[in-house]
Amino acid sequence: MRPIDLASRSGVALRRAFQTQQLRQAAGSRQYSNITSLPPTYEKLHSKYTEVRRVLGAQRLTLAEKILYSHLDNVEESLLNNTNNGRDIRGKANLKLKPDRVNMQDASAQMALLQFMSCNLPQTAIPASIHCDHLIVGSKGADDDLQAGIQTNHEVFDFLESAAKKYGLDFWAPGAGIIHQTVLENYAIPGLMMLGTDSHSPNAGGLSTITIGVGGADAVEALVGAPWELKAPKVLGVRLTGKLSNWASPKDLILHLAGLLTVRGGTGYIVEYSGPGVETLSCTGMATICNMGAEIGATTSIFPYTEASARYLEATRREQAVRNAAAFQNFPGAGASEDAYFRFKADEGAQYDELIEIDLSKLEPHINGPHTPDLSTPLSQFKSTVQEQKWPEKLSAGLIGSCTNSSYEDMTRVESIVRAAEEAGLKPKADFYVTPGSEQIRATLERDGTLQTFEKAGGIVLSNACGPCIGQWKRQDGVEKGTVNAILTSYNRNFRGRNDGNLDTMNFLASPEIVTAMAYAGSTTFNPVTDSLTTPDGKEFKFPAPHGLEGPKTPFDIGKDVFKVASQPPNPNEKVAISPTSERLALLEPFEPFPNSDLSGLKVLVKVSGKCTTDTISAAGPWLKYKGHLPNISANTLNTAVNAETGEVNVAYDLDGSKHTIPELANLWKERNQPWLVVAEHNYGEGSAREHAALQPRYLGARIIACKSFARIHETNLKKQGVVPLTLANEQDYDKIAAGDEVATVGLYDMLQNGGQGEVQLKVTKKGTGEEFLVPVKHQVSKDQAGFILAGSALNLLSKSASV
Ligand code: SF4
Repeated sequence: MRPIDLASRSGVALRRAFQTQQLRQAAGSRQYSNITSLPPTYEKLHSKYTEVRRVLGAQRLTLAEKILYSHLDNVEESLLNNTNNGRDIRGKANLKLKPDRVNMQDASAQMALLQFMSCNLPQTAIPASIHCDHLIVGSKGADDDLQAGIQTNHEVFDFLESAAKKYGLDFWAPGAGIIHQTVLENYAIPGLMMLGTDSHSPNAGGLSTITIGVGGADAVEALVGAPWELKAPKVLGVRLTGKLSNWASPKDLILHLAGLLTVRGGTGYIVEYSGPGVETLSCTGMATICNMGAEIGATTSIFPYTEASARYLEATRREQAVRNAAAFQNFPGAGASEDAYFRFKADEGAQYDELIEIDLSKLEPHINGPHTPDLSTPLSQFKSTVQEQKWPEKLSAGLIGSCTNSSYEDMTRVESIVRAAEEAGLKPKADFYVTPGSEQIRATLERDGTLQTFEKAGGIVLSNACGPCIGQWKRQDGVEKGTVNAILTSYNRNFRGRNDGNLDTMNFLASPEIVTAMAYAGSTTFNPVTDSLTTPDGKEFKFPAPHGLEGPKTPFDIGKDVFKVASQPPNPNEKVAISPTSERLALLEPFEPFPNSDLSGLKVLVKVSGKCTTDTISAAGPWLKYKGHLPNISANTLNTAVNAETGEVNVAYDLDGSKHTIPELANLWKERNQPWLVVAEHNYGEGSAREHAALQPRYLGARIIACKSFARIHETNLKKQGVVPLTLANEQDYDKIAAGDEVATVGLYDMLQNGGQGEVQLKVTKKGTGEEFLVPVKHQVSKDQAGFILAGSALNLLSKSASV
C-alpha cells in the first residue's frame, strides 16, 4: 500500500488529507459509530438495507447480495417468494431491481433511445449517460481518426446529442473516452447499482458497484422507472492471498481465471473477490479484473472497498465520495448488531456457492487465445504452445489500452520497460498502438510525459475510443483479409474477426506489459521474463520487471474542454434528429403480439455448429454504422455462422434446395411470412450485451431459438424481443433436427399464459420423410418475461403502461 505523503502537504490540504485518511481507516471499524448524519447519496440504500436485514434476519450476506438486495423494488416480495422463506434465494428468486443509473455506449444507445422514444415520456426516470466511443475507426492516430469518425458518423452523434438534450442525459462527445473508463472515473460510487448497455459494464465493480451489462430493452425498463428483473445470481467467491510481483499484473489474474472457468463457467454467478490479496491491488487493477469477468459469462464481478478505492476516488477528484462512503459504512442502522452497519465487504462467515483460492504471489503472466478468451497459456509455456499449434511466430502488431487496460498504473508500468528498451537503442519490431481509455487518462499521461515516451518509441496513440477493440481498425500494415497473422492486445475479447474483420487474425490477450515487450521482439515466442533481445550495438538486452505508479502524483488532468461532459436538464422543445431518409437511423415499428395459440408451421432456417457469439449473430466492425437502422443492419444476421450440415459459413438452403446467404434466406422467408427458428449448440449468444443479436432475427421472422445452452444476457434479450429461447433437454436431439424441418410448439402457449409455469415440447416434422417426433425442451421464462413474449416484446408492454 502506498502511504500518503503528509509531509509534502500543508494547511487545508494537509488537514483534509489527514481527515480523509482517518475516514479511510474508519472503513469497517466501529470506532466511528458516532457518525450521525447519512450522506444523501446513501439514504435510499440505507433504508432498503434496513428492510433487507429485517427480512433476512442474521443471514450472512456477501457484498454482492447486500448491494443487489438493497436495490429491490419490493424487498419482501422478491426475497420471500419461492425461496423457502428467504433461505434459498440464489438461483431461485426473481429480483425486481431499481438501478441507480444507466450508462449507454453509442452503438447500443441508438436502439435503446429509439425504444425509449416509443414510450413517449418527457424524461428518464433515473440519471443516464451516453458515451460516443464505438464508432471511431482507429487507423493513423488520434487527431485524424477522430475527425474522420465525426464526419462519417455525424448523423448518429447528432441524434444521440439531441436525444440527450431532450431527455436530460449526460452526453460524452466522440473522443471523450470509452464508456467503462469514463464511468469508473465519474459515476462509480461504492454501493451503487448501475446498468450499462455493454457487456463489459462490470468494470465498475472495481469500485464496489454492482454494474450489469444489459441490452437496450433492459435499459429502457430502468429508464422508464419500471423494475428490472434478474434471476438471483449465485455467488462465486475468489479468495486472494499473497501479492503480485515482477511481470504478473491484475490482467493475469483474470486471464488465468478465464482459463480455469471457461467462457461459460461464470454463467448465473456474480464473482466476488475477497481475502488479504485484495488489499494489495489498485482500484484500476480491480476494475480490469471485473471488466474481463464478462468473458467467463458472469452476471457481474465485484471487489470490496479498500484504501486503494479511496485513493482512486481522491485522484479522480471525488474526495466527497470518500467521506460519504466512510460515513455511510459507519452510520448506525436499525438494531445494535454489527449487521446494522452496511460495510462494503462480505459479512464475516458469508457463504459462496463456489470458492476458488488464488495466491497472487504464485501467479505468472498468461496469454489467452487465439479466437477465445478462455484458451489460457502460462507465459512460460507459450513458446512451446505456439510451436506445437503452429501459430504464427511473427507478431504483426501489439495493441495496448482500451477500456480494460489503460490505467495510469498499466501505462506507467509499460513506460518503465519502454524507457529501458529506448535506452538500449531498441524499437518495437511490430506495429505498436496505444488506446487511452478516456480524455482524463490521456491528458494525465501526456502531462506526465508517458505518451511522449510511447510516441518517441514509434507508438501510435489512437483516439480515446474503442477502435481496434471492436473491429474498427483500418490496418496500415497491408495484412489482407484471409492472411493468417498474430497480434497481441491488452483488450478483453478475441473472437474471430473482432479487431480487423479478418477471420484469420489471431488475437492473443495479455497484460499491456507483456504485449509491449513482445511487440519489441516482434515475435510470439519471446518470453520477456527469461529471454533477451540484441541491441543495435550487439549487446544482450533483458527487459527489467515493469514498475509503475498506482495513480498520478497530483490528481488526474481533466483534459480538453471539448471533451467535457454536457449535462443538462430535459428540454421538451428539443427535436430529436432523425431524417426520414436516413440509412443509419429508423424509427421502430412494434412487433406483432404472440398468437392466441401455440406456434405452428415454423421452419428451421439453419442449424448452426460450434461457437455462435453475438458477433456471429450480429457482426460489429463496418456494421456498427447501421445500429440505429434495424432493416439495414439485419442484412448481417448470422453472417459468420457455420452451417452444421455443410460446414459452410453464411450459407443456408431454401426448401427448394436453392443456396443463399443466411440473412438473404431469412429475408426471403420474412417476405413470404414464413416464421422460422434456429437450432444451435452451446452458449448461444456468448459475448456482448448486443440486443441486435435478438432484434434482427425477430425482425426477420424468428420465433424460437432452440439450442444446447444460452449465454445469460442474450437469453434475456431474446425474451425481451418476443423470441422464445428454448434449451434442448436432451442434447442429442440437436442431431435429430435439420434445416428445413417443420416445427410446432406443444405447451408453449399454456406456459406463457401461466406466467412461465409448465412444460414445453417441440413437435418436429422431418423435411422429405414427414416423420414426426417430439423433442422436450427447457425454458427459463419468468412471469414478467411471459408477458413480454405474449405482448410481442417488452417494449410493447412498457409503452402501453407508460401511456396509461
Ligand atoms: Fe470498447 Fe472494447 Fe471496451 Fe467494448 S471492450 S467498450 S469495444 S474498448
